[in-house]
Amino acid sequence: MPLDAIPGIGSRRAALLKADGIATAADLLMTVPYRYVDRSGETPIADLEVDLQATVVGTVTSVGVIPRGKRRLQVVVDDGTGKLTCTWFAAYRYLAKAFSKGDLVAVGGKAGMYRGKAQMVHPEVEVLAEAAQQVGDALDDDPAGGTTQIHTGRLVPLYSTTQAMKEERLTSRVLRRILFQALHRFGPELIEPIPPEATEGLDLPPFVDAIRGIHFPQSMEEVEYSRRRLAYGELFTLQVGKQLLRRLQPGDAAAAFPIPAEDSAARLPKLPFTLTNAQVRAREATWQDMAKTVPMRRLLQGDVGSGKTVVALSAMLAVVEQGGQAALMAPTEILAEQHAANLQALVRPYGFPVFLVTSRLNAAGRKQALRLISRGDAKMIVGTHSLVQEAVTFKNLGLAVIDEEHRFGVKQREALPAKGGVPHVLAMTATPIPRSLALTAYGDMEVTSIDELPAGRPSVTTGWRPAEQRDRAFLFLRDEVAKGRQAFVVYPAIGESEAELRSATESYESLKAGILSDVQLGLLHGRLKPEERDRVDGAFRRGEIDVLVTTTVVEVGVDVANATVMLVEHAERFGLAQLHQLRGRVGRGTEPSFCILIADPKEGLTPEAKARLETMTRTRDGFEIAEMDLKIRGPGHLFGTRQSGFPEFRYADLAKDLDLALEARDRARDTVAADPGLKSPKHEALSLELRTAIARGAFPGLS
Ligand code: ADP
Ligand code: MG
Repeated sequence: MPLDAIPGIGSRRAALLKADGIATAADLLMTVPYRYVDRSGETPIADLEVDLQATVVGTVTSVGVIPRGKRRLQVVVDDGTGKLTCTWFAAYRYLAKAFSKGDLVAVGGKAGMYRGKAQMVHPEVEVLAEAAQQVGDALDDDPAGGTTQIHTGRLVPLYSTTQAMKEERLTSRVLRRILFQALHRFGPELIEPIPPEATEGLDLPPFVDAIRGIHFPQSMEEVEYSRRRLAYGELFTLQVGKQLLRRLQPGDAAAAFPIPAEDSAARLPKLPFTLTNAQVRAREATWQDMAKTVPMRRLLQGDVGSGKTVVALSAMLAVVEQGGQAALMAPTEILAEQHAANLQALVRPYGFPVFLVTSRLNAAGRKQALRLISRGDAKMIVGTHSLVQEAVTFKNLGLAVIDEEHRFGVKQREALPAKGGVPHVLAMTATPIPRSLALTAYGDMEVTSIDELPAGRPSVTTGWRPAEQRDRAFLFLRDEVAKGRQAFVVYPAIGESEAELRSATESYESLKAGILSDVQLGLLHGRLKPEERDRVDGAFRRGEIDVLVTTTVVEVGVDVANATVMLVEHAERFGLAQLHQLRGRVGRGTEPSFCILIADPKEGLTPEAKARLETMTRTRDGFEIAEMDLKIRGPGHLFGTRQSGFPEFRYADLAKDLDLALEARDRARDTVAADPGLKSPKHEALSLELRTAIARGAFPGLS
């Protein structure tokens, strides 16, 4: 139903709302208040009695200093039920400036009567909204004839508005009134979008009650009860979409790669260590998937250093041994090169050359690599996003591995598998994903966790130090270097702008001239020329550089077992996931390691920054850290930008809705299994809901 069918919305307001993504009456009803103001304890001015201690909320209609008699400030407040005069005899000059006509204020105090009019002397007063924010709003004019309070005397929902909306007087208050009218009129006609089998037996309110409860609740408990119902609807619809996607996924069969024989190269007999149980399980799971013609879609998640690479390598080897092509895409050149070198070392005895495709190839080298890849002669391929550029085609891509997949956008991530035939897909991530997220973001993938670190990993002691202990921290670092170990010193340079880089570069100079003058220092950041980066990176790996002064470029990749100290300057500026990744750069060898976070409480740390630092010192468990991150920042941030493909929810909160996410997944599975075309009349509304979501691009690949 179009917006202008709602009383109070003409074509002008409809256009404004549309610009904010609200195109239909349903969209409007599904908007979420960003906050509720508890005004339930308020007394209407008309009900004031002498000596009643009360809070009144209303609009200032006049502000004036009365010069006659005892000089005083008089402010008249009107709440639609009557007028209240507030009087101050002291500090009135100052107070007179605190109010303007039109301000919405809350006034609290003991009521009195003066010449038949309600008044309060020296009340407490708080400006709730300035006149400028609520231009020209009439006072209460409830559609229900004034019997229902919607702006006062209850939990009042606040809606966010754009600047353009404000300028056109489409304020939060006006929206509230419009919503009330819309609910009044269309509430009974709202159609439950999810089928009865999805909610049966769950303690959730009917859809219409939930919508009403979100906008005009009697209590905060009702808000939460309603929110859960709407969140469940979102999660269920998403899961139905994922399940359908999964069914629709290329009817085409992938090439099957039977589980490698005992004496196969894929079993990696030359490894210098034994696999952990978790690695063995993950390896078996991928092999089993790839033995089928249903294309594998598996996400391998495991903390930094849990050893995901060997699992990927054995899958790649299995494919290559059986005549297919296998490609691994990594987010950075350093990482791609590292993978290529590791692979090369492992497979040399079996004679599968590894081809590396990055932007560093020269034109001739690139041309040759692309030719070999398209002919199928290059079988084992490693690269960066260069692999998904147009010119690249594979002859028979059997397996696409995407390392650190959360660092790629959806398009890039989906591009590699689309490069040749119907490959199996193995995605890997070191950002441990809380279960609720894995379920929703990757509902169409099977998830395998490597939840165990290789044995014998040394301890990593983490400490948070204020600025005045910086020198001591550096002395400690120097002692470690004296013992033959290596260290990182990281500066924040998230965007790697000139100004941000200065901190790393300047500190490098001052460390070199000062406390670290007797050790070999190297500087590594994203703005260095590739050759210089290679040189520094190589020198650090070979142990020619003791201390690497750097930015977050070391966050992924750099794998130096001899590094035992990670010192992070301005640790308060890093995200939790980032700090955890940085810490993952040490403790990779056999020696006890240390992570020192320098952040000065005197510089006014935010509560979030404190929570991050405290979490880091408390735990090393990536899953716990991810859960914390989700709590502190919300799911959108964990996955970066919108284009990461993470669904945006209005109501669902993945930090607390795991139960709903699980239930939604199971029930969506049943619904889709019973009616894959959503043709049954009871699935009509669901089908419509999905089509709307598809039209908005929520399920790339589904039509
Ligand atoms: P990530 O899961 O972070 O990608 P990697 O695969 O890079 O981890 O492994 C980290 C380091 O641990 C590498 O140096 C790798 O050789 C080593 N490694 C992997 N598996 C084991 C194991 N089972 N025992 C000992 N070391 C291992
Ligand atoms: Mg890795």
